[in-house]
Amino acid sequence: MAKRDFYEILGVTKSASDEEIKKAYRKLAMKYHPDRNPGDKEAEEKFKEAKEAYEILSDAQKRQAYDQFGHAGVDPNSGMGGGFGGFGGFSGAGGFDEIFGDIFGGMFGGGGRARQSGPRVYRGEDLTYQLNITLEQAATGYSTEIQIPAWSDCGTCHGTGSKNGAKRETCSMCHGSGTVLQASSIFSIKQTCPACHGEGTVIKDPCPDCSGTGKKKGSKVLSVDIPAGIADGMRIRSSGNGKPGLNGGPAGDLYIQVLISPNKDFERDDSDLHRQVNIPFTVAAMGGDVTVKTLVGDEVVITIPEGTQNGKIFRLRGKGMPELRSSAKGDLYCHINIETPVNLTKEQKEILKKFEESLGENITRHQPNSSESFTEKLKKFFN
Ligand SMILES: [Zn+2]
Ligand SMILES: [Zn+2]
Repeated sequence: MAKRDFYEILGVTKSASDEEIKKAYRKLAMKYHPDRNPGDKEAEEKFKEAKEAYEILSDAQKRQAYDQFGHAGVDPNSGMGGGFGGFGGFSGAGGFDEIFGDIFGGMFGGGGRARQSGPRVYRGEDLTYQLNITLEQAATGYSTEIQIPAWSDCGTCHGTGSKNGAKRETCSMCHGSGTVLQASSIFSIKQTCPACHGEGTVIKDPCPDCSGTGKKKGSKVLSVDIPAGIADGMRIRSSGNGKPGLNGGPAGDLYIQVLISPNKDFERDDSDLHRQVNIPFTVAAMGGDVTVKTLVGDEVVITIPEGTQNGKIFRLRGKGMPELRSSAKGDLYCHINIETPVNLTKEQKEILKKFEESLGENITRHQPNSSESFTEKLKKFFN
């Protein structure tokens, strides 16, 4: 079934501010929250739908990916980018519970749910890798292998983090609860224990090889498929290839940011390309065929009509950049640059002198826009 547009679900416009999105979501969530609609399947679906839309649109990065690529940009199952999880997809971890707490704290269940005690699970950090490619590679698509950091269990302590293999000991600061109470004037606030980071246990004698983390940093090779038509600065997500999580939390993601080097002959404008095409002044005046190379090396013949002026643009349809995940292609715009001959021989100068004389009194009239006779004369002269 086709997925509904996230903006439509929340009933906001594409230009809605973060505050408007939050408000719209809050309204829907209050209406359809399962606590308020027990057993109502339709309300549950609506709640889930709104929740998903809010998850994406409340995150600047995910919202941008969604705006650019639609559902495929944020759906980890879309298969975008070959072996990757998708463009700018969402992790599902760490997002919603915090948002929920923010919005519903004090609204349901009489004062909000108390935070669960015990070890806190942390999702690993995301990593970014910058990959430089050429414009040609962006046009054809590009597969390569990159070396990225990877973490494995420390061999010395077998991943336990403890030097002598001793078991973790109960944290003396929080007595194993993972949280400490911070007293203020009216309330006591439960906070994650700073000594054990919520784990409730600590390692007394940390392994020197991994500083007690139980993990060792190495590297691994990752195959990357850059789809044809990718734009400069776009990011491809490789899920789970970020830093490892803590206390059994999921690993972060790796974002491969694609940077496209400028091309000396071609300038890109979305899916269109622009290039200069140099032609001799005789061809400009009398007309003729010139062969133009496209970005990917195809040769295309342009028929230059007689009397072509400098700066004229010829459009070659479908010879530009491919559009991302589409068979459509942009156009190639050829900007004509008329070459003035240099280093003329004496004989050539004579010929041009004669030509100049043939124009007679009317030399100043042979301007770009009034030059029918100029073209005619030039043609006659050189034929
Ligand atoms: Zn170790
Ligand atoms: Zn503790």
